[in-house]
Amino acid sequence: MTPPPTTFPCPLEAPAVSTNAQLFERAQRSIPGGVNSPVRAFRAVGGTPRFISRAEGAYMWDAEGTRYIDYIGSWGPMILGHGHPAVLEAVLSAAREGFSFGAPTEREVELAEAIIERVPSIEQVRLVSSGTEAGMSAIRLARGYTGRSKIIKFEGCYHGHADALLVKAGSGLATFGHPTSAGVPPEVVQHTLVLEYNNVEQIEAAFAAHGADIACVMIEPIAGNMNFVRAAVPFVKRIRELCDQHGALFVFDEVMTGFRVALGSAQSVYAQAIPGFTPDISVFGKVIGGGMPLAAFGTSRRVMEKLAPLGPVYQAGTLSGNPVATACGLATLREISRPGFYEALGARTRTLVQGLQAAADAAGVPFVVDSEGGMFGFFFTSTLPQNYTQVMATDQARFNRFFHGLLDRGVYLAPALYEAGFVSAAHTEADIAATVAAAADVLRAE
Ligand SMILES: *Cc1c(COP(=O)(O)O)cnc(C)c1O
Repeated sequence: MTPPPTTFPCPLEAPAVSTNAQLFERAQRSIPGGVNSPVRAFRAVGGTPRFISRAEGAYMWDAEGTRYIDYIGSWGPMILGHGHPAVLEAVLSAAREGFSFGAPTEREVELAEAIIERVPSIEQVRLVSSGTEAGMSAIRLARGYTGRSKIIKFEGCYHGHADALLVKAGSGLATFGHPTSAGVPPEVVQHTLVLEYNNVEQIEAAFAAHGADIACVMIEPIAGNMNFVRAAVPFVKRIRELCDQHGALFVFDEVMTGFRVALGSAQSVYAQAIPGFTPDISVFGKVIGGGMPLAAFGTSRRVMEKLAPLGPVYQAGTLSGNPVATACGLATLREISRPGFYEALGARTRTLVQGLQAAADAAGVPFVVDSEGGMFGFFFTSTLPQNYTQVMATDQARFNRFFHGLLDRGVYLAPALYEAGFVSAAHTEADIAATVAAAADVLRAE
């Protein structure tokens, strides 16, 4: 056994310049896999993760000083780009007033009001610190409100890593799920039914078999955790009808799509196609924190009043509604509410995906794209996938070559084919053109 060190290295004396490879090596000694969230480790695409030292606007720089055009945007939150001056100012001035009080603040009320004002299906909202926490709390609320245990989710949708959601489909509709993670006892997922996304027959059969026991159906309306797959309008419409008939709640997980695809979020996009459509519970995260740890869930006052301290459903958080995070979220919501914001963001995103499509077409590579607002997806296949199985059947090897080809050319896409991409308001026409040119260069070699 080696004796304990008598002196500890001062972190300030750590070498100023390390390569990404050196940092990854060092990280793996103190952090499992070298990362604090698995997909950052580049396992799906191979290679060395870039350690980011700073970011500004549409760009990030790694530890070696290499600049990348950033299409991850912290997995969605950075809709204004990095370091937007108004947001930065709001965060700095909030930090000067105090980091955390564990007591209510006016800013929490302002953020709650700002969310309610923009999303008509919500009368009350509770703020939490992560999307996982918001999704988990939404399910508890749905179960507490309905007095039922069973929940339905869809394969390929991610709603955070709460135990009951780390589950894959059982062998038939009669059997509930199996855990997808060690450490989740089978009993914990026995009430979770996993169905195929966009499959109307399956959801009808599930309600026919279990309707009286189903607390909620939870969905990513545009699934961004299987790249970019829209829930078909008839599918959403049918779920809404079935929930109404059977007294179940329809939960829209808008952690990714919320304030990303439209100011009214994905539910406003579906309301255009289905007059009067609203979900019951909505879950938000990512953009509403503007890059700070903040998430929320909300619905009608009648349902929200089941939460503690008014009702019997317990839910709490030391840092919930944190004053610095709420300042960041509020400033972000203010900026994205300016007239024309989503029109411009949507147009820029379309220019990108149309450019990628044209580059692939010119190279004769099977390729399809889709986008809504500032969120996009692309697949190496010839028709848009409708569910997880179809997404995972697209060309993985080609995606990985494309990912690394672009990374080598200074364009940073999400390092896995099942992740969505994000454009920010800071991406210029020149950034998009440079990205498309880099993509054309990579695709020509295919
Ligand atoms: C990111 C995400 C979550 C989880 O949010 P965290 O803040 O990472 O816990 C939940 N649902 C969806 C749709 C997401 O994209």
